[in-house]
Amino acid sequence: MRALLLWCAQNEWLSENVPRWGFVRRAVKRFMPGEDFDSALKAAVAFKSLGIGAVFTKLGENIKALSEATAAVEHYETVLKTAAEAGLEPEISVKPTQVGLDIDPDATFANLNRLADSAARAKGFLWIDMEGSAYTDRTLDLYNRLHARHSGVGVCLQAYLYRTAADINRLLPFKPAIRLVKGAYAEPADRAFPAKRDVDANYLALCALMLPDANRGRLRLVLATHDIQLIDRIARFADAIGIDRHKLEVHMLYGIQSAQQMKLAAEGYRVKALIAYGDAWYAWYLRRLAERPANVVFVARQMFG
Ligand SMILES: Cc1cc2nc3c(=O)[nH]c(=O)nc-3n(C[C@H](O)[C@H](O)[C@H](O)COP(=O)(O)OP(=O)(O)OC[C@H]3O[C@@H](n4cnc5c(N)ncnc54)[C@H](O)[C@@H]3O)c2cc1C
Repeated sequence: MRALLLWCAQNEWLSENVPRWGFVRRAVKRFMPGEDFDSALKAAVAFKSLGIGAVFTKLGENIKALSEATAAVEHYETVLKTAAEAGLEPEISVKPTQVGLDIDPDATFANLNRLADSAARAKGFLWIDMEGSAYTDRTLDLYNRLHARHSGVGVCLQAYLYRTAADINRLLPFKPAIRLVKGAYAEPADRAFPAKRDVDANYLALCALMLPDANRGRLRLVLATHDIQLIDRIARFADAIGIDRHKLEVHMLYGIQSAQQMKLAAEGYRVKALIAYGDAWYAWYLRRLAERPANVVFVARQMFG
């Protein structure tokens, strides 16, 4: 089911047609407060009163013209400014292929550099998403160049890839910011652990590798997962080696494990919700279904009203 849904995520005919189907549009609402930034901002302001921060991401990837990249950059600049004016710590999360990586790496660097400048002016933060493994080297190269100029920039790494421990070891000397996820794309078995239990074990091992640096303030470590048992194991591991578990920062997606987000925030963890919005939700939404095929039942229920 996961492989089928991830195949659908890449299919051009489906990506053009499925977003028009009303029952799918209704189902998507579970993961998005709305398609426009105003809805995302309202959700973020409401989260703030619950002690939960927000990271904004406008959906879109693999753009075909640099003009689309410029439009995305201008949009994110407005987001940073508006969110700061609303009293939020504005964080954004951007896909490299949303700002040109398929077309021109230098233009992509210039676009991300512009966003890092804007984030610094707004006292915010720029996260760089990690896409499929064909982009990993180029994304890390962009991150290294940006991080050499800006402190408020972080990158997402994926625990399903065999290479991630080596990538972390290369990044750690430079006081990075790392958002660790399990990984959302279809990857071959020679690059990524095929079995979920191995991905979970690697996630834990990678945290063990990073926790000492996070404890010394040499790393901003974000656990980006909805896996409560895994978060609990990492917290217990942190306790065991004398690290204050409240130095752990947890990010989850809007609409998933909402009660747990509030519980973790009430327990003193730094919690942020990644709020997605925009009309280019098709591939992103299919990846959410692939993460939990039981969500397909929810889509079917929308179909039958
Ligand atoms: C803040 C954030 C940023 C991310 N950025 C990236 C990125 O840049 N690149 C990338 O490849 N991936 C990214 N991801 C996605 C990530 O790789 C996983 O695919 C996703 O988080 C599901 O894995 P999990 O860690 O939640 O664990 P799982 O073991 O998959 O899930 C644990 C539990 O969480 C709940 N859950 C998980 N997913 C869903 C869902 N879709 N719907 C309903 N319940 C669910 C279920 O109860 C499940 O049992 C991001 C995830 C988060 C939270």
